[in-house]
Amino acid sequence: MGEVSDELEGSVQDQEAMVEVAGLVRRYGELLAVDGVSFEVCAGEIFGLLGPNGAGKSTTLRMLATLIQPDSGFAKVCGFDTVRQSEQVRRRIGFQTGDTQLYERLTPVEFLRYFSRLQDMERGLAKERIEHLVEALDIKAFAGRRCGSLSTGQQQRVSIARALLHDPEVLILDEPTSGLDIISSQFILEFLRQERERGKAIVFSTHIMSEAELLCDRLGMLHQGQLMMVGTMASVLENTGQQSLTKAFLEAIARQDERRDEVASGDARR
Ligand code: ADP
Ligand code: MG
Repeated sequence: MGEVSDELEGSVQDQEAMVEVAGLVRRYGELLAVDGVSFEVCAGEIFGLLGPNGAGKSTTLRMLATLIQPDSGFAKVCGFDTVRQSEQVRRRIGFQTGDTQLYERLTPVEFLRYFSRLQDMERGLAKERIEHLVEALDIKAFAGRRCGSLSTGQQQRVSIARALLHDPEVLILDEPTSGLDIISSQFILEFLRQERERGKAIVFSTHIMSEAELLCDRLGMLHQGQLMMVGTMASVLENTGQQSLTKAFLEAIARQDERRDEVASGDARR
């Protein structure tokens, strides 16, 4: 991490972190997809991983969700290591991505019921949970239709409900509003606010600056695998001397490029 991020708060003190990511690295051949990423997320907090396409958001979240392993560094959920204690981690997280496939011929409720059985959830508990999610994500209006006939935004809400059936303590969502209209997005953002009120730790990624502005308690700006800055909206704006998150992001990139140029010209002189 660079000088800039060191000046900002990388973690919230006096509270215990539910998610701890430290020096996470992941390579694909020559490419450093994730290059030393560190951040923490506490209960009742929404952390936004903000960055353009290819920044390394999905790779970071997939490591946190135990789906792929880091080359170095570590990630912990409620103190459990994602590599050595992946089973404990999986029980405590709900991971949602746009890739999740629904079963076209089932209705949302049938689909959720089916998954609750796969997960061996107790029937009464599953029923209660499905009712809550159908209500909270406003799935009611289309609960009787087959998943195959739903809009992208509707499918996305069902896919979020599926990921959160077991009421996990930590929610990990990879671009939950990607490609959605503002109405569908609003449902999801409002739902995440409710989950925050319930004390969940929430990590979500987005490339939409306005969304991060609306939702995040703290955010990390990811660019070319590196977290350029971590902090509250106010601290990021103050640190970059900018009025908006978009401008702050561009300023952070300019500073990062400057640092790289300095390193490169230093190397050349040697
Ligand atoms: P984001 O989610 O921010 O768009 P990703 O984490 O998907 O970014 O990708 C980060 C970088 O890693 C990109 O350059 C991408 O092409 C590369 N990458 C991601 N997954 C793979 C993979 N399975 N194999 C090779 N390269 C990958
Ligand atoms: Mg992605």
